[in-house]
Amino acid sequence: AKSAGGNRFEVADPEADARAITRHGLTTALPMALDRGEFFIEYQPLVHLGDGTVHGAEALVRWLHPQHGVLGPDRFIPLAEHTGLIVPLGRWVLEEAVGQARAWQERHARTGPMRINVNLSPCQLTHPGLVSDTVDILEDAGLEPDALCLEVTESALIGADDDLLKPLRRLAEMGVDIALDDFGTGYSNLANLRRLPVSILKLDRSFTQGMQQYPADPVDLKIVEGIVSLAHSLDLAVTVEGVETGAQAEQLRILGCDTAQGWYYARPGPPDRLHELALADARG
Ligand code: C2E
Ligand code: CA
Ligand code: CA
Ligand code: CA
Repeated sequence: AKSAGGNRFEVADPEADARAITRHGLTTALPMALDRGEFFIEYQPLVHLGDGTVHGAEALVRWLHPQHGVLGPDRFIPLAEHTGLIVPLGRWVLEEAVGQARAWQERHARTGPMRINVNLSPCQLTHPGLVSDTVDILEDAGLEPDALCLEVTESALIGADDDLLKPLRRLAEMGVDIALDDFGTGYSNLANLRRLPVSILKLDRSFTQGMQQYPADPVDLKIVEGIVSLAHSLDLAVTVEGVETGAQAEQLRILGCDTAQGWYYARPGPPDRLHELALADARG
C-alpha cells in the first residue's frame, strides 16, 4: 500500500502496475478472444452423495490466452461483466454446454440422464434475451429443459424484485432448474427463499471446509444440519461443493446433503473425462 500524497505516488507498487496493465490488456483482448475461439469449457462431475454415481456436470469456462496460457474465470469474468462481453460469452458457454450435455445423453442411453449446470452472471439475468436465447439453444440442441440447471449466486438475488425474478420464473416453469450458488455467503433472509424460483441450494465451499476434520466442529455441523432441514422442508435439494476428502463427503452425506462436487471425486476436465467416469459407474 502507498499513500496518495505528492510524489510518493510515483513510487508505485510494480506488481500492482503489472496487474493493472494485464487487466487492461485482457479487457481489450476479450472481444477478439471470443471470435478467435480462445475460450473452452471444463466439466466437473456432480455426484449423488449416497452412492457416488455421476449424474451431471458443471460447466466452468477457461480462456486459453495466446501469451498468458490458461486463465481461470476469476481472471476474466469480472472484466467481461464490466464490459458487457459477458452476455455473448455467457450465451456461448450455454450453447456449448447444452450441446455437450446432449452428446453425453446420446452416449449414455443406459446410464440415465446427464444433467448440465451453467453459471449465470447477474448481467445475464437482466438481459432481455435470456429466456428466448435459452429456449432457442435447448431446442437447437434437442435437450429437454429438465436436463439444464442455471446457477445464480445468492448475492445476485438478494433484494431481487419481481422484474428480475420474472425470467427465472419462466425458465423454472419450463422445467429448467435454478440453483442458488454460493449459498450461505450472502446473508439472505432465509424466509425469502420461498419467494425465489429455485429448486437447488449450492452450499458454499466455506461450509465444506468446516467438515475437514473428523469429527467436524459441532457448530458447523449444526449450521449445515439446519440449512439442510430448512432446504428439504421447502422441497429444495442441497448440493455441496469443494468436497476434497472422503471424511467431508461422509459427514455431508450423514447431514443429508443430496449431491456433491469436488476434487475428491474429480477435478474439472475435458468432456471425454466425464464420459469415462459415467461409463465406469454404469459398469459398476
Ligand atoms: P463456482 O460457480 O462457485 O464454481 C466452483 C469453483 O470451485 C470452480 O472454480 C471449481 O474449479 C472450484 N472447485 C471445484 N472443486 C473444488 C475443490 O474440491 N476444492 C477447491 N478448492 N475448489 C474446487 P473455477 O473454475 O476457478 O471458477 C470460479 C468461478 O468462476 C465459479 O465459481 C463461477 O462463479 C465463475 N464461473 C465459471 N464459469 C463461469 C461461466 O461460464 N459464467 C459465469 N458467469 N461465471 C463462471
Ligand atoms: Ca457455480
Ligand atoms: Ca426440473
Ligand atoms: Ca459456488
